[in-house]
Amino acid sequence: MTTPLAAAHIHHPDPGRGFYGGVPIESYAGGVETGRCYGCKREFDFDPAEVETFLVDPETGLPPGLTVLASLRPATPEAVARSVDLPVCPDCIEKAKRFTF
Ligand SMILES: [Zn+2]
Repeated sequence: MTTPLAAAHIHHPDPGRGFYGGVPIESYAGGVETGRCYGCKREFDFDPAEVETFLVDPETGLPPGLTVLASLRPATPEAVARSVDLPVCPDCIEKAKRFTF
């Protein structure tokens, strides 16, 4: 299974893994995983060592410290402790950057 997003990760080769030289991502044994993007919920391939992730509190579905009203409050240690890193696809990273600035 290949997606256009998988190709995006080839832009971040790790020299230590010998990923240079047009090695097809299918034969890359370094650990490409398929996951669901936190932002848009679609599946995409990513390298866990390279992918950008979003720290999400499973109780609220939002990053710790962020309320549903998108206002900031101090993140409690409990919220941070139970939060998990979820992968975010490059498209959503781009969108997030555009909205941030
Ligand atoms: Zn996404």
